[in-house]
Amino acid sequence: MKTVLVTGGAGYIGSHACKALKAAGYHPVTFDNLVTGWQQAVKFGPFEQGDLLDRARLDAVFAAHQPVAVMHFAALSQVGESMQDPGRYWRNNVTGSLTLIEAAVAAGCPHFVFSSTCATYGEQDNVVLDEESAQLPINAYGASKRAIEEILRDFEAAFGLRHVIFRYFNVAGADPQGEVGEFHRPETHLIPVLLDAIDGKRDGLTIHGTDYETPDGTCIRDYVHVCDLVDAHVLGLKWLEEGKASRVFNLGTGQGFSVREVMDHSRTVTNREVPFTEGPRREGDCTKLVSGSTRAATELGWQPHRSTLSDMIADAWRWHQNGHYDR
Ligand code: UDP
Repeated sequence: MKTVLVTGGAGYIGSHACKALKAAGYHPVTFDNLVTGWQQAVKFGPFEQGDLLDRARLDAVFAAHQPVAVMHFAALSQVGESMQDPGRYWRNNVTGSLTLIEAAVAAGCPHFVFSSTCATYGEQDNVVLDEESAQLPINAYGASKRAIEEILRDFEAAFGLRHVIFRYFNVAGADPQGEVGEFHRPETHLIPVLLDAIDGKRDGLTIHGTDYETPDGTCIRDYVHVCDLVDAHVLGLKWLEEGKASRVFNLGTGQGFSVREVMDHSRTVTNREVPFTEGPRREGDCTKLVSGSTRAATELGWQPHRSTLSDMIADAWRWHQNGHYDR
């Protein structure tokens, strides 16, 4: 069985990726420092605790497991926090990824699948965001991810490390079988925060800004189901194994929803009211991020199956009511 090293495999997206990899016949080995991840989320293969900044630990893990590829999810990923503490984002995301990429090359691991973000595009009014769009991030999170994309290009040129880069739009939902789900402490992402507000686990949702130039004044995002997203990663891995060239793919549905529209859908799915207040804008937020690309469909054959907003909220709600992790 082929081993894949999954950094961040104890986190939200990484744990779903491990499940998809196992189902596709791979052996996922999780590498995670458990700063934001949960050991209980590691259910589909072995666990190696370690930090991306620890090169000796990485070398030992590569030597022990001999992975045929790396899937790199481990990162700090909060836009607002990245504006308050940019050094942490550059150190953890960029220096950490550089250390990982160097370790992969040194170990002779040929393939690298990287979790990037639509935040690398930044604020671009009336522009269709496809993979050829300019990358003009407006927050430190997006800037850190763009830098890692550049590192990957340089390392391919120098050492032949082939890569697939996925630029995610907003990931939502949970494993419909309830084995893994989204669980951040503290939680800042819209759908889980909103579900917390609905069932009284927090006072209410604060809408971060109602004066954006959108039809209802709130930010618009393109939501994609975590299970569809990780399916694309398995396709990306196969793409590399088939010897195809390094490639960038957007992962979104092409449909945008405002914060208020997400609230409306949540009300319908849960049949409960969403307590909320209107607050100021959050630093670093773009007005609208919606994918304008069909590349993942046409080239990878990727078809999202569960990415309607109602399905994503229903899966997140089921997980929210039944699933959680503890330290
Ligand atoms: N948002 C909000 N209140 C919250 C959390 C998020 O209004 O408590 C908004 C946020 O400003 C953005 C959208 O919801 O417009 C999605 O934010 P999230 O943090 O989920 O993802 P991001 O787009 O920042 O990666």
